[in-house]
Amino acid sequence: MEARRENRELTDIELTENALAVLRKRYLKKNDRGEPVERPVDMFRRVAGNIAEAELKFRDGEEGRALYEEYYGRFLQMMLSRRFMPNSPTLMNAGRELQQLSACFVLPVEDSIDGIYDTLKHQAIIHKSGGGTGFAFSRLRPKNDIVQSTMGVSSGPVSFMAIYDASTDKIKQGGTRRGANMGILRVDHPDIEEFVTCKNDNDQITNFNISVAITDAFMEAVEKDGEFELVNPRNGAVTRRVRARELFKKIAYGAWLNGEPGVVFIDRINADNPTPQFPIESTNPCSEAHLPPYDSCNLGSINLSLFYSEEAGDVDWEELRETVRTAVRFLDNVIEQNNYPLPQIEEMSKGNRRIGLGVMGFADLLIKMGIPYDSEEGLAFAERVMRFIDEEAWEASRALAAERGVFAHYEGSRHEARGDRVRNATVTTIAPTGTISLIAGCSGGIEPLYAVAFMRRQADMEMPDVNPEFVRVARERGFYSEELMKKVAEQGSVRGLEEVPEDVRRVWVTSHDISPEWHVRMQAAFQKHTSMGISKTINLPNEATVEDVERAYRLAYSLGCKGIAVYRDGSREEQVLSTGKTA
Ligand code: UDP
Repeated sequence: MEARRENRELTDIELTENALAVLRKRYLKKNDRGEPVERPVDMFRRVAGNIAEAELKFRDGEEGRALYEEYYGRFLQMMLSRRFMPNSPTLMNAGRELQQLSACFVLPVEDSIDGIYDTLKHQAIIHKSGGGTGFAFSRLRPKNDIVQSTMGVSSGPVSFMAIYDASTDKIKQGGTRRGANMGILRVDHPDIEEFVTCKNDNDQITNFNISVAITDAFMEAVEKDGEFELVNPRNGAVTRRVRARELFKKIAYGAWLNGEPGVVFIDRINADNPTPQFPIESTNPCSEAHLPPYDSCNLGSINLSLFYSEEAGDVDWEELRETVRTAVRFLDNVIEQNNYPLPQIEEMSKGNRRIGLGVMGFADLLIKMGIPYDSEEGLAFAERVMRFIDEEAWEASRALAAERGVFAHYEGSRHEARGDRVRNATVTTIAPTGTISLIAGCSGGIEPLYAVAFMRRQADMEMPDVNPEFVRVARERGFYSEELMKKVAEQGSVRGLEEVPEDVRRVWVTSHDISPEWHVRMQAAFQKHTSMGISKTINLPNEATVEDVERAYRLAYSLGCKGIAVYRDGSREEQVLSTGKTA
């Protein structure tokens, strides 16, 4: 209680040098000369004020005013204490002219020139405003299929994806970040082989992450080593039969080669789609948000590293409960305050009211708890934390429904079928938190530590930059030495370093020390209690084989994951969006 009261009075935010640099460069409001005209604390005030304004839309007069004041304070404290951060577009744009607050959008791609080029324009509008876009090209007729009106032939999904890619190059997102896209094709599309190999060359379609939408029927055919039919979406005709295992291997080979394509288990995503009246065919660029066409999602993440209570030797569950509830209200308010790039998106987003509350700093919290990431205890802890957050988030959404009503598309939803009156179709999603974890100063999403320490070039000198918590532990346990820190920084991890006590080594594991199987199992543990998807990279060692990738895909499928993305060490120099934090 004491600590909480203290936190309520924060008037500024503690930031690392890196966090400050990122904010100055891309987040803070600037004048014509490009100089920041707000301090970080002003940015958080701007965001808290703008998001709290939604309170005034639901309650008039005194009551509205009081709610505004209360939530302005709560939202501000939640951010200044670094316990919660909304996704980047909210930080950048709330309370400013653009007012575009969402990170993720999905657009339809109809099988017509009008449809394809309308969406191309909509993609540009969304990128300009700072959002990422996802598309499924599955409804497009295959390459060389007939075009009635001209008696010509179609150039196929991959060629149109290349056009979207080229357009992305020209639009810088809100002047702040490069456009990111997800391109998806169903595994039964006749052009699937061209699609899965279209990024084998690293210089192609560089603004897209690509994923294959894998069906249950395909996985069954792989299991049985059977044949699988490729179907023309224009007329339902079977164009070809392929051996499922061969196609599966091609997909795995691409992922082995350079991490592309990933896969999403599309039938499973639809089986859990809370609004089945709007089927899902694609995801956002990092694949955590499963959205029907024209839907959007605004994300926010809780920094778990700050919820360890030393006194209790456990999570401060009360504090976490309060933060989850406030965060859900914050994200529901974002839907009201958002300036949508298209009327269709406004209709769908307000209709479904999808929000995606996630976590970051999970690896940091595990370390404080003394639990290794790659352990049964680690998995059990992950489930416990995420179940708690998910349940509390639903409670908050129910309370909001009582106060403000259920979401407009409630009728026909799975929530209606269960008689569960909630305000939001979804509540939880785990985002990569690429930048906001850097701002909050914690480990990204649910990823293990990227490194315990790394060598940093500073004033022409190579200096070890060591995780401050590790320095603290090293001093406390009496094994600190500059020489050792340098050693850790050179190899990134503490693996095999005898100078570090065994129990410390066991807890301070990095993504490279963890086997693919444990990565997948951790993703599956979080998925059990998450409404939408999980952004997670399954790290493979450089010497991993194509069969290892296949094994990881099968495991992900059998454990109930909604998709999987692997990355083999050293297989690619640059990623469209890197989920881990590199030095
Ligand atoms: N995203 C994007 N461009 C970027 C980074 C992210 O469009 O450069 C979108 C994308 O949909 C991604 C989502 O934002 O899945 C969330 O990414 P992340 O959590 O890394 O964003 P942050 O809020 O930390 O900037």
